[in-house]
Amino acid sequence: MTEFKELFKSANWKEEKHMPVIEVPDKVKKGELFDVKVTIGKEVAHPNKTEHHIRWISVYFQPEGGKFPYHIGRAEFNAHGESTEGPDTSTVYTHHQAVLSFKTDKKGTIFASSYCNIHGLWENKKDIEIV
Ligand code: FE
Repeated sequence: MTEFKELFKSANWKEEKHMPVIEVPDKVKKGELFDVKVTIGKEVAHPNKTEHHIRWISVYFQPEGGKFPYHIGRAEFNAHGESTEGPDTSTVYTHHQAVLSFKTDKKGTIFASSYCNIHGLWENKKDIEIV
């Protein structure tokens, strides 16, 4: 039987258009807000069409040694060209990138997941240091 965690795919982000790319300072100041920017298809563009698009990005933080992750937030991308005229007719497309901000006193790992409507779930992670 397939485990849920096995459904999350990962690959080299420079070659794989579905990878969530996490941009965050390597070192962040204790207790100070910082930005986490997550982009899909940073190097290889992912399509944004009614029939093929990214639906959402979700960001989590796992403090080192912590027992459970914290869900930092989620961005939904809801316009993909659809209209009463049919698929890809509205000219309105939400771009699949998000900037979330948070603060922490603890170093740890940021995880990002994303969902393509036909290519499923993808994941990436990045460590942060606290100074
Ligand atoms: Fe896709």
